[in-house]
Amino acid sequence: MPKQGYAVIGLGRFGMSVARKLYEAGQDVLGIDIKEAHVEDAGLSVTHAVVADSTEEEALKSVGIRNFDCVIVAIGDDMQASILTVLLLKELGAKQVIAKALSKRHGQVLNKVGADWIVYPERDMGERVAHQLLSPNVLDFIELSQQYSIEEVKIPVSMTGKSLREVDLRAEYNISAIAIVSDEDIIVPPSPDQIFHQEDRLVVIGHKEDLVEFGNIE
Ligand code: ATP
Repeated sequence: MPKQGYAVIGLGRFGMSVARKLYEAGQDVLGIDIKEAHVEDAGLSVTHAVVADSTEEEALKSVGIRNFDCVIVAIGDDMQASILTVLLLKELGAKQVIAKALSKRHGQVLNKVGADWIVYPERDMGERVAHQLLSPNVLDFIELSQQYSIEEVKIPVSMTGKSLREVDLRAEYNISAIAIVSDEDIIVPPSPDQIFHQEDRLVVIGHKEDLVEFGNIE
């Protein structure tokens, strides 16, 4: 990925983990926080960190906020500050604004003031934990709609050594295989003769109820 410029406003637990990951991936990251101690702590985990109040237009202008490819607003508790910050960012012409919401209502307001993408870390993480408990074989998933998902699952022990044709996911479980992932390779789309190995993972698409059933196979 070509180098991009990110600004992360709010260097709490959420903001810092976004900032750190981006920086470790070689991206340019400016960290901004109203508290000096948080800016100091950000230290070597970002390209540069500054103390500023993001609800002040001049502060955003002085860091050249328009020049960043993406701004992440990671202020949580102070809902007013988070909303005002997004509003100012959009007014100043920030290209892409991602904002963290604590509640549905907070998210609705962030949407109204122009946030391009709203994330709900607590809600999403809670759902992921519940999902993992319901389907122990599931390693990762993407929710496509209320009914459908894509999931990466461990190959059930009972299927190792068999081919996709033999297992016949569509007829047996009403789901479709998109890919087989091994440590060395990703096979997209997998051929019907592809044999499942124990360490392989399978990427499947289907109705959530069918996926829960599949995710519980021994
Ligand atoms: P987390 O769960 O990520 O730790 P949180 O949801 O508890 O955070 P807050 O603590 O309210 O959210 O905010 C995260 C960070 O945003 C804090 O470090 C806080 O100092 C910073 N912050 C709050 N208001 C502003 C502001 N107006 N400008 C810049 N930074 C701010």
